[in-house]
Amino acid sequence: MAVSEMRLLLVEDERALGEGICAALSADGYTVDWLTDGERASHALKTEHFDLLLLDLGLPRKSGLEVLREFRRTGPPTPVLIVTAQDAVEDRVQGLDAGADDYITKPFDVNELKARIRATLRRSQGRAQPLIEYAGITLDTAAQTVRYQEQNVILTRHEYMLLHELLASPGKVLTRERLMQALYGWEEEAESNVLEVHIHHLRKKLAGDLIRTVRGVGYVLREIA
Ligand code: CA
Repeated sequence: MAVSEMRLLLVEDERALGEGICAALSADGYTVDWLTDGERASHALKTEHFDLLLLDLGLPRKSGLEVLREFRRTGPPTPVLIVTAQDAVEDRVQGLDAGADDYITKPFDVNELKARIRATLRRSQGRAQPLIEYAGITLDTAAQTVRYQEQNVILTRHEYMLLHELLASPGKVLTRERLMQALYGWEEEAESNVLEVHIHHLRKKLAGDLIRTVRGVGYVLREIA
C-alpha cells in the first residue's frame, strides 16, 4: 500500500506535540486524523478504519491503556504504536502486554517516529506464512523444523516455541510475561529463570547477537537491514 493511501489515527493531548507530529507525517504523505482524548479515540476506532494507531498513554477522559485494551478485544488487528514517558517502564510493559506492536518514548526525534511507523506497517503487512525465513533462519511451521545457515538445528519444544514467537515479530519487544505465557500458558508453573535458560540456548544454537535483552522488559529479535 502506498503511503498516500495510509490513514493514521493520532491520539495525543499535548497540543504542540500533536501539531508537530501531524505536520511531519502529513509532509510524508500520510493521512493523519488527530484526537486529543481517549473517549473520542475509542469512538473513532469503532466507527472508522485506520491503518495505524499512534496512541499516547496519558490521556484525558480515558487512558490510552483502556483504549488499547478495548480495541484489542473488539477491533481489527490494526498495528498500534504507543507513546510513553521516558521513565515509565511499567507503562511500556502494560502497553505491550495489552497488544501494542511497539512503543516510542518522549521526547523523540520525528525521524525516529517515522522509521518506527514504517517498520510497524511493514511487519503488519508481512504476517502469516508457513515458512518463516529471517536472518539465515528457516522455520517450517508445518514440519516444526529449524534450519540455520543451511544446517539443521535441533531445538527442544520450548526453544522452538520461543523462537517461533520471536520470529513472528522481529524488531518488536516481547515482554517476559507474554513469552512465558506463550511457552507455559496460564496453568503450568515454571522456574523464574527458565526463560533466560531457553534464550541462552537459542543464542548458542543460532547466532549470539540475534536476540537482544531489553532490560526490565523482555526480549527482541534484532531487525536486519
Ligand atoms: Ca499525554
